[in-house]
Amino acid sequence: MKTIGLIGGMSWESTATYYSIVNSRINTELGKNHSAQCIVYSFDFQTIEELQYAGRWAELEVELIKAANALKAAGADFLVICTNTVHKVADNIEKEVGLPLLHIADVVGEAVRNDGLYRVGLLGTIFTMEEDFYVKRLESRFDLEVLIPEKDDRQIVNNIIFSELVKGIVKESSKNEYLRIMDKLKRQGAQGIILGCTEIGLLIRDYDLPLYDSAILHANKAAKMSLIP
Ligand code: GLU
Repeated sequence: MKTIGLIGGMSWESTATYYSIVNSRINTELGKNHSAQCIVYSFDFQTIEELQYAGRWAELEVELIKAANALKAAGADFLVICTNTVHKVADNIEKEVGLPLLHIADVVGEAVRNDGLYRVGLLGTIFTMEEDFYVKRLESRFDLEVLIPEKDDRQIVNNIIFSELVKGIVKESSKNEYLRIMDKLKRQGAQGIILGCTEIGLLIRDYDLPLYDSAILHANKAAKMSLIP
């Protein structure tokens, strides 16, 4: 079994989800008392959030490279960044560190295409929804049409992530806001919804369109990848 290098703490709430999924998935695959072989490097999320909001992505990249190199030195065979937003610098990390990196957008894009869908709604942080690194990747590699909420709604989705979900706070009123925004995307023609932030699954589990929970898909794929000889 290969060793998974998990770069997490963005937030720890979703890293806990990853940790749980990789272990239970390996047990399902291998039986007995098998569990995942993995190493977790968990950041203090406040420092990461401040760098993101200040647009200091080069510094954030340096921090991520340090973490990835530490995981490599400790024996990780491949890297998994347990958040969507930080994938803005994922390609550089993979290049600098020289370990394969399982890109979250590729895992999500593949899952959507496997279901035969081509037009999907995307919820995530403002960085994930508004910048090119995620949407363009889904469009160019998977030929998807990606719909994002309108500006005010993007702000609502983002605020709920940073003020509630990263701390594990789940409110009925926030769930209703998300459902209202998802309904709008559905009316615009979305055939499914990408939960493109690793904490959204704490809030939204069911909907009447297919949901693509990035954390669940990514963690399951990581477990699968660790079993490829
Ligand atoms: N975990 C979230 C994501 O998947 C947001 C945290 C962050 O800004 O890194 O994008």
